[in-house]
Amino acid sequence: MDRDDPHHERVTPDLTLAHDLAGDRTLDDVTADIVECRACPRLVEWRERAGREKVARFASWTYWSRPVPGFGDPRARILVVGLAPAANGGNRTGRVFTGDRSGDVLFAAMYRAGLANQPTSTSADDGLALRGAYVAAAVRCAPPANRPLPSERDRCLPYLVRELRLLPKIRVIVALGAFGWDGVLRVLDIAGHRVRPRPRFGHGTLAHVGPYALLGCFHPSQQNTFTGRLTPQMLDDVLVRARDLAGLTPPQIPAPASQAEIPRGS
Ligand code: SF4
Repeated sequence: MDRDDPHHERVTPDLTLAHDLAGDRTLDDVTADIVECRACPRLVEWRERAGREKVARFASWTYWSRPVPGFGDPRARILVVGLAPAANGGNRTGRVFTGDRSGDVLFAAMYRAGLANQPTSTSADDGLALRGAYVAAAVRCAPPANRPLPSERDRCLPYLVRELRLLPKIRVIVALGAFGWDGVLRVLDIAGHRVRPRPRFGHGTLAHVGPYALLGCFHPSQQNTFTGRLTPQMLDDVLVRARDLAGLTPPQIPAPASQAEIPRGS
């Protein structure tokens, strides 16, 4: 056991028992379970309260206020894993990374890398389609202060196990932030792919876990993008590397990051 690793404990076997892994036939089966889930009382209360006590700029919206499933190409070779929906982002629109600043940055970069058909992601019916990529979060309900409890994380991670099982072409997993990295390693552990020593998160870190290449990337949070800790070029570099590792071809006319703008505002 690595005492220096705060995440050294193995996930409990009970995690998988709560989920019918053998019952899934399609991603829609997993999605149907995710959107009905009320297993975490604290998060259920938070996600629903966000939909009742709306911020002024989204006062006209009817919030989704339910868990947010993964989204993307069922033949994806790249899986992108974030932390959790934002209270006024995915929790409002019902699609992961949609309607918040983090998603603006992420999908613009995915578009430049040829992994998305458009650079914007504003609502669940905005026409966004991913090519060769699937996006999901480690935790499916918006948590207070973007901080799920370990128990909430562990309760939710089997959904990602189930999605991964139904995405057989995945070769590369891009983990956004240390939480996403940790969540992916736990998911792969559940799936039987355990690595020791446990690779530590870092931007640009590449680890090989079972059949997967795991790539670390700073989370495209406002805190990281506004401070320049994560620039468009840095995000592009990770996604292009993921694309190459996955054996996907580049887009016909790539848009250089120098032309990309990180959105500013509240
Ligand atoms: S965080 Fe996950 S396990 Fe908890 S209520 Fe939401 S969907 Fe269910």
